[in-house]
Formats: sequence, C-alpha cells, structure tokens
Amino acid sequence: MDALPAPSPAAAADARAAARVTPMMEQYIEIKAANPDALLFYRMGDFYELFFADAETASRALGIVLTKRGKHLGADIPMCGVPVDRADEYLHRLIALGHRVAVCEQVEDPAEAKKRGAKSVVRREVVRLVTPGTLTEDSLLDACRNNYLLAVARSRASAAGQEATFGLAWIDMSTGEFVVAARDRAALAADVARLDPAEIIVPESLYDDAELQAYWRALPAVTPATRDVFDGATAERRLAGYFSVAETAAFGALSRAELAAAAACVTYVERTQLGKRPPLSPPAREAGDATMQIDAATRANLELMVRLSGERRGSLLATVDRTVTAAGSRLLAQRLAAPLTDPARIVARLDAVEAFVGDAGTRETLRGHMRAAPDLTRALSRLALGRGGPRDLAAVRDGLAAAATIAARLEALAGAPHEIADIAAALRAGDAAVAREFARALADELPLLKRDGGFVRAGYDAALDETRALRDESRRVVAALQARYADETGVRALKIRHNNVLGYFVEVAAQHGERLLRPPLNATFIHRQTLAGQVRFTSAELGELEARIATAAQRALAIELDIFERCAAQVAAMGEAIRTVAQALARLDVACALAALAAAHGYVRPEIERSLAFAVEGGRHPVVEQALLTNGGPFVANDCDLSPPPGGDAGRIWLLTGPNMAGKSTFLRQNALIAVLAQAGSFVPAKRARIGVVDRLFSRVGAADDLARGRSTFMVEMVETAAILNQATERSLVILDEIGRGTATFDGLSIAWATIEHLHEKNRCRALFATHFHELTALAAKLPRLHNATVRVKEWHGDVVFLHEVVAGAADRSYGIQVAKLAGLPRAVIERAQSVLTALEAEDRASPARKLLEDLPLFAAAAPRVPAEAAADRASAALIAALAALNPDDLSPRQALEALYALKRQWADMQED
Ligand code: ADP
Ligand code: MG
Repeated sequence: MDALPAPSPAAAADARAAARVTPMMEQYIEIKAANPDALLFYRMGDFYELFFADAETASRALGIVLTKRGKHLGADIPMCGVPVDRADEYLHRLIALGHRVAVCEQVEDPAEAKKRGAKSVVRREVVRLVTPGTLTEDSLLDACRNNYLLAVARSRASAAGQEATFGLAWIDMSTGEFVVAARDRAALAADVARLDPAEIIVPESLYDDAELQAYWRALPAVTPATRDVFDGATAERRLAGYFSVAETAAFGALSRAELAAAAACVTYVERTQLGKRPPLSPPAREAGDATMQIDAATRANLELMVRLSGERRGSLLATVDRTVTAAGSRLLAQRLAAPLTDPARIVARLDAVEAFVGDAGTRETLRGHMRAAPDLTRALSRLALGRGGPRDLAAVRDGLAAAATIAARLEALAGAPHEIADIAAALRAGDAAVAREFARALADELPLLKRDGGFVRAGYDAALDETRALRDESRRVVAALQARYADETGVRALKIRHNNVLGYFVEVAAQHGERLLRPPLNATFIHRQTLAGQVRFTSAELGELEARIATAAQRALAIELDIFERCAAQVAAMGEAIRTVAQALARLDVACALAALAAAHGYVRPEIERSLAFAVEGGRHPVVEQALLTNGGPFVANDCDLSPPPGGDAGRIWLLTGPNMAGKSTFLRQNALIAVLAQAGSFVPAKRARIGVVDRLFSRVGAADDLARGRSTFMVEMVETAAILNQATERSLVILDEIGRGTATFDGLSIAWATIEHLHEKNRCRALFATHFHELTALAAKLPRLHNATVRVKEWHGDVVFLHEVVAGAADRSYGIQVAKLAGLPRAVIERAQSVLTALEAEDRASPARKLLEDLPLFAAAAPRVPAEAAADRASAALIAALAALNPDDLSPRQALEALYALKRQWADMQED
C-alpha cells in the first residue's frame, strides 16, 4: 500500500487557519449542539441570525435572502436573519410549517463582555423553545381555538391478548387547561381528532410501535420525546413538583399511563420554557364515557369544525357560533367537539340557554358587557411567564370589572336556573380590589410593550411623579437653553436636537457654522459633526443637562417596571381565581350565544333522556337552512323517528331511498347534527326533538375520495364501514350514506345488504341508511325494526320536481334519467337511455332481490360454517405426525420408498379437500 504523501508546510498552515474558529462561532456551535432539532434564532443586535443548515431551511421556508458571513473550516457560512421586532411573524410561519425554534438571547450588556477583553463574546442563552404546542402570544395563536399539547403514554397490557390502554394528558398552555384521561385505541384516535392538537408527544417506543407508527406519521407535529419525559418512576414526583403538592392523589386516582402522560406534559412545558412554570389548572380527569365518541372520519364527514375542503365557513361551528368573545368561541368549539352523554349535565346547559331565549333585553345587555371583556386566561399566562405587557394588565382590570358588572346583573335575575347562579358566583371569584388598583395604576393609552415605560398613570406613585417632573423639567430647561444660545449667537434658527448617536447637540445651518467655530463662540461650542446642510456642536452645559435628563428618565422607567412586576405578581397570585372568572364569562357567552341563535332561527329545546328514543319532528339541517336563507328557497322540514317500536328494546333503522338530489344526504346529516347540538347543550333546528343520549356517532359516505392517502376509495369505504360494525353499540347513532357505491352493482348491493342485517341483528343501534339500491327495501319484510322511507319527487311533464319531503315507503325508481335530463345531457342520449332502461326492466321482472330474500337465511340465523382453515390445519397436523413417526434407520430401502409414496398421497388428498 502506498504511504500518504506528507502534507507540505504551506498546506498545513492553511488547514490550521481554516480550522480556526472565531469565538463567536464557537459559542454558536456549542449552543446549536445543545438544540439539534430546533432552528436556532441567534440574537445579534437587532436581528436573530440563523447559520449553516438552519439558514438554508429558514431562507427557503420564509423566502428571505440567504447571505454568508465569514468562513468555517474553509467554507463560507450560510446566514440569514430576521429583524427582532418582526420575529413573531416569522416564528408563526416556521411553526406553522412544523419547525421548532430555539430563541437565543444576549444575556449580558455588550459593555460587560468588553471588560473581559476586546475579543470576548457577549454571553448568550437559549431562553425559550418555541414549539407548536407551547405558544402563548396572541400573534402566534388563533383567538377562537384552543392550542393543545397532547401527551400519550401506553400502559403495558396486563395479560396477553388484552387490548392495550393509553394514558392521555392534554394542556392548553395559553389558557391553563389541563385534562387527563384513559382511553382504548379507538377512543384515542377519536380524542386526537376531537382535540386537533397542535403538537403531540409520545415515548420513542410508542412512536416506533409496529401498529402505531403509520398512524403517528400521518398526523402533523408528532414528536417522539426522550425517555426521561415519560419516565414512570419519576412521574409522580415531577407532576407533584409542578403543582407544589406533596402527592398527586389530590388529582384523583390516576393510572400509571395517565400519570406518565400528565408528567410528560409538565416536563415538556418546563423544558420548552426553560424552567419557567406557566400557570396550569390541576389536571382534571375525564371519564371515557363522558362525551360522545366521534371518530375522525365522522367529524370530517359531518363538517363539525371545518368543511371537507378545509374551510371554516359553512361548518357547523361557523354556522351556529354567535359568541362575542374569543374565550366563548373556544368553549363553544370544545362543546361541539365533545357533546356530553350525562343527561343531567346536558340539562344544566340547556337551562342556561333557555333562561336567555325569551329575554332578549337581558341577553343583549350582557352580551354588550362581555364584548368589552378581554381574553383573561391568555393574558394571565403571558404575565406569569414574564412575557406580558401593559395591555395584559389592562385585560385583567377590564375583565374583572366586566365580571363584577355582569355578576350584579345576573344576581338580579329572578328564578335563574342553578347554572346561571353558579356562573354569577364564579364571576365574583376575582379580587375586585385588584381591579380597582389597576384602574388607578394604568394610564388610559397603553403601549404594547413595557420596555419603554409610559403606562403608569400620573398621580399613582409619588416617586415616579417626582422623577418624571425632573425629566420633563429638564426638557423645559433644554428649551430655555436653546433660546439663550440663539440669543448669544444671534442665530435665530439654532436648535437643540437629540439622536441616539450624539445624544443632545446644537445644530445650525451650514452658513452659520463658521461663526460658532470662531472665537469667542468656540469657547462655548465644541464641534461634533459637519453635514451637507448643517453643522453640529455640543457644550459643557448641554452635556451636564443630558446626564441629568438621562438619569431621570432611567429612574422613571425603573420605577414603572417595578410597578409592572408588582402588578404582574398580583395577577399570578390570583391565577386560579382569574381562570374561574374567565371560564364563567365563557360559559355565559356560550349560553347567551346559543340563546340568540335559537331565537333568531326558531330552534327548540331538545328533551334529553336515558332511553333509546330518537324522535325529531320538523327537523332542519342547520347549515343548509342558513345557506338557503341567503339564496332564497325555503328549507323543507322533515320528521325522523328511530325510537324503538312500542314494546321494542332497540332503536330503528330507516332505509332511505330516492333519486339523486332528492335530499337524502341532507336528511341523514341533519339528524346527526341535531344529536350533536342537543348533547352539546344547544337548542336544535326542529319543532320538537326527543333524544336518548347517543354514546357514539358514526357517519360514512360511500366512495369518498381519499386520493391524498393513496388508498382506493372503495377500500376506504370498507375500512370505515368495518369500524362501525365493530364498534357501534345499542346507544350509538349510525349514518350510512350510499355504502356499497364504490364497487360493481352486485358486490355493492350484497355488501349493503349484509351491513344492514348486521346493524339490525348485532349492533342493534339506531341508524339511517341512504341508498340507491331500491332492492334493499325488500328487507323490511324480514327485519322488524327496519323502516322504509323515501324522499318524494313529483313527475311533471316528464321532468322531475324535488319536494325534499321524507315520507314512509320506498322509491319506485331512481329517476336517474330525469336527473340526467335536468343536468342537460343531449336529447338523443336521454331517449336512447330511456329505451335501454325499458328493455332492462322487462328482463328484470323476476326481481332477483326478492328471490334472494326468500332463499337466504338472515345474517344472525346463518349457521357458522366450519372454517375451511380448521380442516386444513387438521390434515397438515396428521401429515406432520406421520412424518415424525418415521425412523429412516429402521426402514429397508423398499419400505422407505413406500413410506415416501404414502406421504405423497396424504399430501395430495389434502390439496383436494
Ligand atoms: P341526495 O343525497 O338525495 O342526492 P342531497 O341531500 O345532496 O341529495 O340534496 C341535494 C340538494 O337539495 C341540496 O344541496 C340542498 O340544496 C337541497 N335540499 C336537500 N334537502 C332539502 C330540504 N329538506 N329542503 C330544501 N332543500 C333541500
Ligand atoms: Mg347524497
């Protein structure tokens, strides 16, 4: 092997130079190494700079210029930067793209650093990790939605074959909410869909779990966390430590997985906030059956929060949201996302709504007061994290004041239900004295940031008033000095000005400059700067004055900041009370908003029961109805009754047939939405509604397009139908819209057929099934709880008129050709289709479906066949036994050959079975 040539001395020197790293780069590299998975915002003066790969990523993501700065190991260092005062905007975009950002600040005065030597670097530290789930700034958050961080831990299954359970914990750091729950796999997915977390953390082992890894990777912002975050042994201590309590028993009996998830949340928060502890409510435990379980597909399908297109407009939430505060809007979103199952709790909410439906006067007065009430919880979180400004203090002042006014008004209501009395009491939780104190302390006009002062009201603090007088007095002295200098020099246009570089200076126009530079005036004026049009000077007197002014201004600012910190501490100290007040305001806002909605659109109070009833009279689709309002046309109200038949012990299934465009899908969805609204505690768009609480809601549409996930649409349809057939209980409500559409007619019909039988016999749930297979209506003859319904149409001069009216009975035909005609298919095609149809119908008279119905036993009655696999298993076991019994050493060649033939025969028989 050839020896490597020795490096030449010159090359070695080059390499040494290239390897030399500036002290600043050294610091950068060290900090970056500690934060490898975040983009590092490295503070330099008025910019946050990014270097190396970070710079490339950020410049691409933000569309900002990539430059370079110096060299590292002989190569250019890529760099880009964002100005500090616009950092929020850039942060927002990076977070939205799924990046995490470490914000690194200068933590000492550059002057301090200089004292350590000319080459020393200013000390810098990462002060915060910005991640999607730990935001607090209004500019980074959506005011009307919660921003959840969700932690998921798994408990080891205690027995083989037993299903694993999951511990979930979620927090909204900006509002302090904190909830823990234990869930099975299906409920985990339903909760993820409901919470729509900004960020999910899971243990690494769970992230790479064979069954779950595809699921995690399909979700946005799932972060595998290091072991210690989920460590079970220290979970109890970490959670108790966060709340400064001795043990976590006070939070209820949490399972190990719940405890691990809850502790992961608080640890993750502390990590990202670099040890600061934002105020969180103690974790509240939510039982698995407390809310209606709605899976992701159903949520998407019913367009609860967003349309299928991703738009918010036209969703159920957007249609019914009449709240006047951001906190109210968030609470309404939460309630619609998680309808309750306990009738007592639903009734309490309905009572509160009812109290305001008839009393528009009180309602509007209260809404007026609430409109003025700011977002208390988010202000509280910012103040507690040292990220608050004067306007956050004002938010507490105004929020508490509004709460007191509103409480008084509520207390004056005669015969208010318990829920309202409870809200009124909660509104009194804040300390009114603090609100009054803040009212005295804060100026009328408030700056966004505290750093420049100017937010404390004159007359609040004697020492502040005094220093401010001194500062302002000095300003008057400056004016006097300017007048005197103008006199002494005879330059009337002489000005005393101020800028950040020179401080105070005397300025005269260029043509007067000479005079001040010559005796005797040059004894007073010292030249500083000559510009194109002006000459600038200073003087001893001016220098002295400047020092006085600066001290006074600095002292005034220091006093103001002191006052700010005192106030912020007061706010933090009553965090729990502020959250109570804020929550009460939000509850009241939701009650008034739902009342306003009910009054405006004629919604009624649903009757909520523990029965299996589902009886809606004159029901309407809340979204379609409002859309029609603006486009003319009236909405045709329809009844739906899925209650068990008299003496029956399970709900009904309605099989809905009717032509395209008749209104089948609308009818199905409106009933699902009425269930959601009712259990969320809202009035419903109907003349009357009696609802036995629904535990799980399922909604599926056949042949849904799911090209994005790269699965065939029919596959999706079947996967989703399977989920329903496996999960729906007697209490569930199932909406199936054209299931079986995604495949060939006979396949589709057969699947739809078997699905209905299963729902009727096994799930025994309440269900609505819309279909274009009218053959299915024959099933009603055998399934006692199956009811045929159809959407009426009228034929008029060969055209079809949609009446949107749901009546008992079966559609006699599809009217597909009439619909095609309405759509403008050429006449020749319509006529040809008509004659083909006539021929087909003549051939179809024997109606294979009816025959099928008579020949096939019902789903449940069908005897389970011995599975073919079991027989095959037995045969191969016999074969293996025969083989094992052979001992080649004992066999003559002939016997061996015979044994081989026998085995071969046995194998051949097995293939034939
Ligand atoms: P289908 O599922 O039977 O094809 P859709 O439910 O999609 O029909 O309804 C088609 C259109 O008819 C809807 O877009 C809506 O505008 C209108 N529509 C449906 N139901 C009603 C109703 N009850 N009252 C008024 N218009 C309706
Ligand atoms: Mg439809």
